[in-house]
Parts: sequence; structure tokens; C-alpha cells
Amino acid sequence: MRKFLIAGNWKMNGGAEFTSDLLSAIKARKAVISEDVDVLVCPTFVSLSMAIDQLHESDILVGAQNMHEADKGAYTGEVSASMLVEAGCSYVLLGHSERRAYFHEDDALVREKLQTALSHDLAPIVCVGELLEQRKENRHFEVVKSQTLAAFNGLNEEQAVQVVVAYEPVWAIGTGETASPDQAQEMHAFIRSILTEQFGEAARAIRILYGGSMKPTNAHELLSQPDVDGGLIGGASLDAESFVGIVEIAEALSISAGKADAQLSPEEE
Ligand code: PEP
Repeated sequence: MRKFLIAGNWKMNGGAEFTSDLLSAIKARKAVISEDVDVLVCPTFVSLSMAIDQLHESDILVGAQNMHEADKGAYTGEVSASMLVEAGCSYVLLGHSERRAYFHEDDALVREKLQTALSHDLAPIVCVGELLEQRKENRHFEVVKSQTLAAFNGLNEEQAVQVVVAYEPVWAIGTGETASPDQAQEMHAFIRSILTEQFGEAARAIRILYGGSMKPTNAHELLSQPDVDGGLIGGASLDAESFVGIVEIAEALSISAGKADAQLSPEEE
């Protein structure tokens, strides 16, 4: 069974006081995280060190929201993979739709960043997802396929399993609208089939998160889908109660899945 990953994308929200208050509230509400679920927060660059200090004795991981593709150099205003690793980050979000839309990041650049992240042992969470008009034109599978193939292009199996995919239909991000559990499962299964064609059985280990207005009220149905391995959460991750609520739903689902697995005979597995 794949381990759930519940990741909070804080976007450009919150300075030092906000970071400290939100992390304190999360820790107060949830002192111990189950081993069955990975929990990640992605604050802004300037709050990363503080978050890492504040979380050093907790099970909550810290990641960045972006990075530059080069290792170092004259790239004013940018941050490299090695800097993130040195700071204590274990994940980095890449190719979020806001970066694709507002900062003109294309598939080639996302792939370059992904390869740089992997070369520094920084786990990439690569975001893919269609626009509303692409779904209306029935082009959503085609769009997600080309984004996914571009991101994984040239990787071997060992590298591919380090990558996390986040399927984020752009029409569901920050809109309050969510893909239905069936729509999410359909696309996640499709992404896994593409990855299976490329990497065979290894694709079963690749986590595929759903992102787009996930909250405690819809998380159970979404996370219950067989190919939904967690969530990338924007708005609801800025509220300790909501974020921890989603983490607890993932914990409960992994406990029941673990029990179901334990009841299967080896032949049935
Ligand atoms: C996101 O930005 O990755 C996201 C999923 O945002 P929200 O949960 O607010 O839709």
C-alpha cells in the first residue's frame, strides 16, 4: 500500500508570526502523526528556516514551493535545490498551475527543475492538470498525458519512484469547486496507466495526490479512491483545524486499509 502524503501549499501567505502561530496550532491540535501518513507543509522561502526549526522534533516535513533549475549562479532572486536541502527541506513543489500561468513555466522547464531536484535528493511534487476549457473540449486526458510524459521524460525507474505527482484540475484550485471522487479516480488511474507504460510495475509505488479545494468535508471521499494517495491542499492548509482534519481522515483510512490488507490471504494480494 502507498503511504498517504498530505501536503499544505501555503502559497504567498504569512510571514514569521503567521508561520509560528499556524505551526503551533497544528502541533497543539496534533502532537503525534501516525507513521502511516506523511505530512508536509510548504511555507514561503523566507519562512522555511523558521518552520524547520519549529518542527525539528515533530514528524511534520517541510518543503519549498519552487526552486531554480540551475545549481548556482547569477540568477538574481532565485533559490537553488542545494540551498533548500541545506535548509532542511525534503520536498519541492514544481510546475504548480500558478507558476505555469503567471511565471510562464512550461513542460521543458518543469522537467529541468525536476531533474535538478532529483540530483540533490530533493523529492519533487510535480503538478499537472487541465484548464476548464480543456475539460469542456474533452482534452483533459491529452493535456495531463503530455504534462506527465514531459515531466518523467528520461528518468529511470529508480528516479521515477522518487517523484510525487499532484493532479490539480486548474478549475478546482482556489475556486471551492472540487473534482468529484469519480473524476479524480478516473484521472489518477489514467496517470498511473501512463506511468506503468513507462516504468512497469514500479509505477505502483508512485504517489499521485489530488489537489483542488480539498477540505475536511470532501477529503474522505477523495482519499478513499484507490489511486488517490494524498492531497495537495491550498486554502484549507492555512487553517490548523482543517489541515489536521484532513490528516486525521488520511490516518483513519490507512488504518482501515491496513486492516483490510492484513485480512487478505497472500494469494488474494
Ligand atoms: C493548490 O494551490 O495547490 C490548491 C490545491 O489550492 P486549493 O486547495 O485552495 O484549491
